[in-house]
Amino acid sequence: DLVKDEDLSILSDLGAGNGGTVTKVYNKKRNCVMARKLILVDAKPSVRKQILRELQIMNDCNSPYIVGYYGCFPVDVHVGIVLELMDAGSLNDIYRHTGPIPIEVVGKVAEAVLHGLMYLYDVHRIIHRDIKPSNILANTKGEIKICDFGVSGELINSIANTFVGTSTYMSPERIQGAPYTIKSDVWSLGISLIELALGRFPFTDSQGNEEEEESEGEEEYDEDPTLPLSTQRPKISAPGESKKEKRKSKGVSLAGGGHTMSILDLLQHIVNEPAPRLVSKKKTFPSEATTFVEDCLYKDPNQRKSPQELLASDWISKSKVTQDDLKTWALSTITKD
Ligand code: ATP
Ligand code: MG
Repeated sequence: DLVKDEDLSILSDLGAGNGGTVTKVYNKKRNCVMARKLILVDAKPSVRKQILRELQIMNDCNSPYIVGYYGCFPVDVHVGIVLELMDAGSLNDIYRHTGPIPIEVVGKVAEAVLHGLMYLYDVHRIIHRDIKPSNILANTKGEIKICDFGVSGELINSIANTFVGTSTYMSPERIQGAPYTIKSDVWSLGISLIELALGRFPFTDSQGNEEEEESEGEEEYDEDPTLPLSTQRPKISAPGESKKEKRKSKGVSLAGGGHTMSILDLLQHIVNEPAPRLVSKKKTFPSEATTFVEDCLYKDPNQRKSPQELLASDWISKSKVTQDDLKTWALSTITKD
């Protein structure tokens, strides 16, 4: 039986994104806590109904790697979606509070996301379209699951500002107008994994270079990499202008204090520059991890590996991390405050 809005009472805020706000709620009927997401939908009643119909597909999405779905309903100008509460929050929340995620845990994140992507595609022919750390959630049972996949075409069309929130994890071919494929999700996974392991969004004008990491000793990971478009100053430059100049001026990073790469610069950078890599001056990562991320980030989608191939890679298949270890880790991120 699907959950209705009147079964729920509000407990606390869990977070907010571009299109929605998420609240921890108590379900009186079932005597348990859940997460309720309200999405502001700017559409006619007929479109709203269509969205609610399309969201029913989520009812059939049952996998240990997909956040559970309990129902949806209209709430005045919003569409409400009730989801399984993931009590450790998103990987984005976690790394911003605790710093870079241990690389062994990042490996399990990769594994969970790949299983989730394969389930969605193989069983439902759904491409996720929005893989990023805020859409990967963890709980204190040591489970990692994905949410916010593109089930409803009408919903995708009706959310204002979608572009701002998703553009930065977008693959080169998508930026250039090619249709979404599961390989686009693999790219977004690669970018997300680097972000989690380094504790910061990977794109800077000096990505992977030695200089980049010695910036003024401030903690780099608690800056917001996805600044809203309105706070970013678009920089218009003549074709071919000052590339060398920009390279030299270190600190021009999307996450750098005050120096922001405009959204257009960033998109151009993703298309034209080499893909970022999992390397850091501060620590060494196992070569299996670096290779895995490289395999996610071939700019040519035909060279990029598929989820099946990636799951068979050494980094994933030889991992010794157990669900108990993940449980211990998830609990540590909550108590550390
Ligand atoms: P964007 O809108 O750019 O996609 P987002 O993914 O952060 O960003 P939302 O999907 O609205 O935006 O989610 C907001 C926040 O709510 C998430 O970052 C996460 O911290 C929290 N959240 C979402 N779903 C759940 C859930 N099922 N359990 C616990 N926390 C959740
Ligand atoms: Mg989300």
